Amino acid sequence: MKYMLLLIAIVNLPAHAAPTDIVSQKSWIHGSENCRSNEDPAIDVLQVDSDTFVLRQNKCINYEAPFIYLMFGEHTLFVQDTGATESSDEFPIYATIKKIAEQWQGNNGVDNLHILVTHSHSHLDHRAGDDQFRNQPNVSLIEANQDAVIDYFGFTQWPNGQAVIDLGNRQLTVMPIPGHQAESLAVYDSRTQWLLRGTHSIQEDSMYESGMNINQVFKSWLILPTSTPSRLLWVLTLR
Ligand SMILES: [Zn+2]
Repeated sequence: MKYMLLLIAIVNLPAHAAPTDIVSQKSWIHGSENCRSNEDPAIDVLQVDSDTFVLRQNKCINYEAPFIYLMFGEHTLFVQDTGATESSDEFPIYATIKKIAEQWQGNNGVDNLHILVTHSHSHLDHRAGDDQFRNQPNVSLIEANQDAVIDYFGFTQWPNGQAVIDLGNRQLTVMPIPGHQAESLAVYDSRTQWLLRGTHSIQEDSMYESGMNINQVFKSWLILPTSTPSRLLWVLTLR
């Protein structure tokens, strides 16, 4: 029986699992029937590999319970989204990321780490924690609006084109995918082969916007043929 347990432990080691499997096998904090008695941490942290983390906000703090992605390169930490709660007391997203970054820097012998914060889109549950990052050392916060996104990434023919972020021996490709919101962005990481796309998907757009008004549905149909499908096909060619 001892050998059987050992075998199971080895098979389950995260180092042997694909990043996507590690995320799908994770049992996330999912709130409580009575949140007043909930004692789970405000932020659930999953380390996917030595340079990749997925964070999730406790559902008892905000029902949206958004995910936040961290990807380390040799000189830059990429952060997508800042969560659904403004208060650093209730939801210490900057302090949590800073602690992870300091541990990572210690492990990797990196003195100066730049933290780049961008957003999948600008709905409040993806940017409420922004203020915690403002005026912090070594942090660049790209504001969650279309002008700031276009300006920072240098898009000249929005929503066409793509931009590359160099984190240091790790490149991310950023692509406009307007639909869920005008400034929605997808981010492709070739290391994990993840396509971060916030709340956005073609299928969801159809459902989401059909519940809104006809102008938005029409707008979605106008934009999607030149943006999302071609973007997704392009990503498939990278794999
Ligand atoms: Zn949204």
